[in-house]
Amino acid sequence: MTLIADLTQALGAAHVLTGPDLARFRSEVTHHYHPDPVAAVRPASRDEVVTVLQIAAKHGVAVLPASGRTGLTGGLMTKGGLILSVERLNKIRAIKPAARIAIVEAGVVLDSLHKAAEAEGLYFPLWFGARGSAMIGGVLSTNAGGSNVLRYGSTRALCLGLEVVLADGRVLNLMSELHKDNSGYDLKQIFIGAEGTLGVITAAVMKLVPRPRAYATATLAARSLPDALVLLNRLQAASGGAVEAFEYMPASYMAQMALARPEIRQPFTPRAEVNILVELGTLREDEARPGPDGAVPLTALLETTLAQMLEEGMVLDAEIAQTEAQRAEMWRRRELASEVMTSRQPTIDTDICLPTDQVATFLYRIHARLPALDAGAETISVAHLGDGNVHFTVFPTDASPEHYDRVVEAVEDEVQALGGSFSAEHGVGLSKLPSMKRRKDPVALEVMRALKTSLDPDNRMNPGKVIPEA
Ligand SMILES: Cc1cc2nc3c(=O)[nH]c(=O)nc-3n(C[C@H](O)[C@H](O)[C@H](O)COP(=O)(O)OP(=O)(O)OC[C@H]3O[C@@H](n4cnc5c(N)ncnc54)[C@H](O)[C@@H]3O)c2cc1C
Repeated sequence: MTLIADLTQALGAAHVLTGPDLARFRSEVTHHYHPDPVAAVRPASRDEVVTVLQIAAKHGVAVLPASGRTGLTGGLMTKGGLILSVERLNKIRAIKPAARIAIVEAGVVLDSLHKAAEAEGLYFPLWFGARGSAMIGGVLSTNAGGSNVLRYGSTRALCLGLEVVLADGRVLNLMSELHKDNSGYDLKQIFIGAEGTLGVITAAVMKLVPRPRAYATATLAARSLPDALVLLNRLQAASGGAVEAFEYMPASYMAQMALARPEIRQPFTPRAEVNILVELGTLREDEARPGPDGAVPLTALLETTLAQMLEEGMVLDAEIAQTEAQRAEMWRRRELASEVMTSRQPTIDTDICLPTDQVATFLYRIHARLPALDAGAETISVAHLGDGNVHFTVFPTDASPEHYDRVVEAVEDEVQALGGSFSAEHGVGLSKLPSMKRRKDPVALEVMRALKTSLDPDNRMNPGKVIPEA
């Protein structure tokens, strides 16, 4: 039997997509890659995933696990591989409020988990623009970050247990609900961030946290990035670590947004150089309950800290959200980043991480270096400043791949010199393979290759991604 006949017999024709039905799997979100899979399958259970992997092994076909397909690094690029979509593994099996966990299948959309947790007064603290499409299998496989990492950590920190189907069809059951389990290696961590190169994640146990009773949100103009860091540390001290998000948007981003989305109100006139979106969240009733004057104490705390820094000249201007609509407007400005950046082409995107006190130095150094590489280039750096993750984007005057590499290498040089990483939250996929080759510790690469060979000796799980050839 052919591959397609075997798959059709196992899953039914409706769940083996070929020809025109495959159209959506031939495009991807960045438009930089043009996948050409042999087919896409949509198993509905872990056992069907096992069957698909066994059939793929029999036919010697590469398998690319797919979730929400919002990944930004070309992780689903293939010529002739089989896409294994987990979109039908979409059950929230249980929310356990007392234990504060959710047991979910890999195809659960992030936003669905947000809603299910919210119904129990809880929160799944992984929050980013693509939450309406990204799925649990994908966020685990890319170890996604987002705006709340500062307080809650990346996806890695939010996972207690995992179920994975290995390349040969064996099921690795690590569905622990435990916060402590020292029975040997923490194997789940190998699969988190593996981008589908080691197996298919089919289910997970995720941590939930109490939902903040109130938020205080502001957009402010800081005198400089180091001053913004002073603000962050003062707010953390004053609030007992309640800062949920601390996001940086430079004047260049606001200017580009004015062009791409003129209907969005700009926060400050004249435009500020360093715009920060800050959000605090409190679990405490006394900080969330409005006083006799109607003021929420958490908001008052934010106001007081900002007022003090205004007096000291470190904050130049600020607006505090007084309503949910104003808070939403502030978040909208930040979450339009992906759309605003792609409205202008060509771009050179990076997703770097620096020690938080080195972000300003990095920006200074790269802007000093860039004119020698591309005198006409413009840049925009939107950042999850609270955790040091900068999306430094260059709009080059030369669209050639050679120029792309030159600029990326210059960014990598400066990042490495400051103790940073070339990959913060989007993963490696295909687009950062050259960086892996140039910058990753060679022994780390050897260990990764050894793991890959032992779990996937025929190199059929998302081949050619994450680990560069030796
Ligand atoms: C508008 C926008 C905003 C974004 N903002 C952020 C952000 O703030 N922070 C952030 O971290 N990311 C962000 N991203 C990137 C992207 O959303 C994340 O990488 C997300 O985690 C990918 O999830 P997904 O379900 O779409 O995965 P996919 O794109 O389907 O897959 C991503 C990778 O994981 C592998 N994979 C998928 N499912 C499985 C599985 N079940 N088992 C094994 N491997 C699997 C795939 O093979 C692929 O290599 C953004 C993307 C967009 C489009």
